[in-house]
Amino acid sequence: MEDGTRWLVCPPRFYRVDYVINPWMTGNVGRVRGERAAAQWEALVEALARRAAVERIEPDPALPDMVFTANAGLLLDGLFVPARFRFRERRGEEPRFEAWAREAGYRITPLPDGITFEGEGDALLQPGEPLLWGGYGVRTSLAAYREVAPLLDLEVVPLHLIDERFYHLDTCFCPLPGGGALYYPGAFDAASLEEIRRRVPTGRRMEVGRADALGFACNAIVAGDALLTHSASEELGRELRRFGLELVRVRLDEFLMAGGGAKCLALDLSHRRPERTAGGRTAISTQTVELVGHLLDRGLMSRALDAIAAGGGSFEIRALQAGLRRDQDSVARLDVVAPSRERLDGILARLVQMGARVGAVEGDARLERVALDGVAPEDFYSTTIFPTDVRVDGRWRRVAAQRMDAVIAVTRGPGGEPRPECRLIRDLRVGDAVVCGAAGVRTHPSPAAAGRGEGGFGFMTAGVSSERRVELAVERIAWEMRRLRERGGRIVVVGGPVVVHTGGAPHLAALVARGYVQALLGGNGLAVHDAELALFGTSLGVDLRRGQSVEGGHRHHLQAINRIRAAGGLAAAVERGLLRSGIFYECVRRGVPFALAGSIRDDGPLPDTLMDLCEAQRAYAELLRGADMVLMLSSMLHSIGVGNMTPAGVRLICVDIAPAVVTKLADRGSLESIGVVTDVGLFLARLDAALGEPE
Ligand code: NAD
Repeated sequence: MEDGTRWLVCPPRFYRVDYVINPWMTGNVGRVRGERAAAQWEALVEALARRAAVERIEPDPALPDMVFTANAGLLLDGLFVPARFRFRERRGEEPRFEAWAREAGYRITPLPDGITFEGEGDALLQPGEPLLWGGYGVRTSLAAYREVAPLLDLEVVPLHLIDERFYHLDTCFCPLPGGGALYYPGAFDAASLEEIRRRVPTGRRMEVGRADALGFACNAIVAGDALLTHSASEELGRELRRFGLELVRVRLDEFLMAGGGAKCLALDLSHRRPERTAGGRTAISTQTVELVGHLLDRGLMSRALDAIAAGGGSFEIRALQAGLRRDQDSVARLDVVAPSRERLDGILARLVQMGARVGAVEGDARLERVALDGVAPEDFYSTTIFPTDVRVDGRWRRVAAQRMDAVIAVTRGPGGEPRPECRLIRDLRVGDAVVCGAAGVRTHPSPAAAGRGEGGFGFMTAGVSSERRVELAVERIAWEMRRLRERGGRIVVVGGPVVVHTGGAPHLAALVARGYVQALLGGNGLAVHDAELALFGTSLGVDLRRGQSVEGGHRHHLQAINRIRAAGGLAAAVERGLLRSGIFYECVRRGVPFALAGSIRDDGPLPDTLMDLCEAQRAYAELLRGADMVLMLSSMLHSIGVGNMTPAGVRLICVDIAPAVVTKLADRGSLESIGVVTDVGLFLARLDAALGEPE
C-alpha cells in the first residue's frame, strides 16, 4: 500500500564505476556487472513501488553516477535547490536534474557560485519538523546551509563528517518518523554527536555499530512502515521493529562499489513544509580572514586550512596572490564558516596565532568591560608567546608583557592613549577593558615557527643523540652563554632537585659564581637538596662522592630543612656561616635573586618557599622579565610553568632525560628552543668544563 510519498529514481542503464571520487570506488573502476546491477535496482524499485509512488528520470550515457538521484538537489513544497557537485565528474548531472525539475513545475532556487551542495546526499529533513540536518566537511560546504536555512524557512543543524568513507550524511544518518534517527557515531566529530544527542531524545536514537555502518545500513529509505536498506544485522532489525519499522533488505552490492546504497538511489519528492516553521534559523557564522606571509613555501596555507577543518569549520578561498620571489609574501583572503559563533571564534583564535588577520576591512579590536573581579568576559582573546598587536582607536599598538594563556587588557595613559598589555585573568578588576574575539588582533609568529609543523621542535632524543651530539650542543650553548655574559645579557636558570641528585650542584654553583646566572627559579626541593649536600655531603641520604647510603642519612634532608628554618631562611643561613657551599650559597653571596615556588610535595617548607602560588607566579614572572636565555634543568613542573610565562624570542634550553618533557615545550613552536635529552648531572659537568676552558 502506498504511503503517500513520491520518489525519483534513474534506471542504471549507464551506471559504471568510471573514476574514483570516494574511497569505495577505489579498485572498482570497470568492475560493475551491468546486468546484476540492473536486477538489484529493479528489486529495490519494486520494493519501493509497493509502498510509495515512483517517478523515473531518463539516464544519460555520459553520466554514470546519475543513478544516484538523491544527490540531485533538495525539494520542498515546490522549491528545488539544485546540487552543485564538488567533483567535476558529476557536474554534468546538474543541468539534467534542473531541466527535469523545471518541467515538473518546481521553482528553481540556485545557491551562489563557489558553494558546493550535494542535495539530499547531505541535507536530510527530519520528518514532520522544521529541521534540516546538514552534513558537511567532505562534499557539501557549510556555507550552503547558511543560504538554505532562510530559503526553506528551516532550522539547519550542521553535522561535521570526519570519515571520508561516510562522505555524505545519508551514508551514516537516517532521520526516522516520530523524531527519531538511525546513525553511526564514528562518522561525526564530538560537537556534532552532542548536537544529535541533544535533539534526538534517548529511546528515539538508534546508534549502529561499525559493521552495520560499513554495510550501509543507515543509507536507508523509509517508506510507510518499512525501512529499505542493503544490509543490517539481526540486532538492528529487532531494534527497528521496536521502533515500529519493518526491516526490508535489498541486496545492492553492485552499487556499493561506487559508495551508494538504497537511499542514494532515490530522491524524496514528497517533502512538505511542516506546520511549525523555524524562521530560517541557523547558528552558522562566517568571517573573512586574511593570511599574509610564506603561505606556500612554508606550508602556512595548508596548516591554516587544516586548522579550520579541525575546528569543525569550512572555508571558501576568495583570493590568492602568490609571492613570486622568495622574499615576497603571498596573500590569501578566505571566508571561514563555522557551525556556530563560538566555534568560529575558536578557529579564528587558532588562525590569529598563525599570523592571520581577521576581517578584510581593518577595524578596531572589540573591548568588553570586566563585570566581576578575576573573571574575563566570555569570549576573551587568549594570548600566545608571539609578539602581538591590537588595533585600538584606529591604530595598531604592540601589546606589552607578552606571555601565553593571558588576556589583553587595555588601559589608558595620562593623555588617554591606549596601552594594551597581557594580564592574567585573576588579575582583572571590574571595569577593565579586555580584548574579545579575534578581530583587530594580529600576531607575528617567528618565520621559522610559522613554517614548522606542530611538534617540529628541534631536539635530540635519546635514540638519536650520541655522546658527540650532546657535546656539540653543550659547546654551542656555552658559546652563547659567554657572548651573553659579555654583553650583559640575562640568563635565568630553572632547576629541579635532580640537579643535586645527579651531582650537578657544584657545577651549577660554579656557573653562578662565574656570573653566568642572573636569576634562579626552582621549588622547595632544589633548595632542600642543595642545603643537605652543603651541610651533610649527601643527597637524600646518599653520599654523592662515594655513591653510597650513609648511616642515618635518611634524616639528613629533614635536618637540613630544620636548620635552615632555625636560621630564618637561606640568606640568613649563609650570613650566619651555616651554609658555606652550594648553589644557593653562591646565589646569596653574589646577590643573584631567586624564587622558590611551593608544591604539594614539599617538606618543610623552607621559609623562602612561596606557598601562595599566585605570589610565586608573580615572583617568577618578575625574575624572567628581560631574560635572553632560560636554562631549564630537569624539572617538568617548573619548566613548563616558565615556558608559559616566557615570550617568543627568548632562547630556551631544556635539558631532561625524558624526551616527552622536552617535546612538551615544543608546543611553543618557537625557533629559539633547543632540547637536550641527557642526564642533567653530566650536562652541567660538561657545561661547567666548557665555560671554564679558555676560548
Ligand atoms: P618533575 O617531575 O616536575 O620533574 C623532574 C624531571 O626530571 C622529570 O622531567 C624527569 O624526566 C627529569 N629527570 C629525572 N632524572 C633525570 C636525569 N638524571 N637527568 C635529567 N633529567 C632527569 O619534578 P620536580 O621538579 O623534581 O619536583 C616537582 C615539585 O616537587 C617541585 O616543586 C619540587 O620542589 C618539589 N619537591 C619537593 C621536595 C621536598 O620538599 N623535599 C622533594 C622533591 C620535589
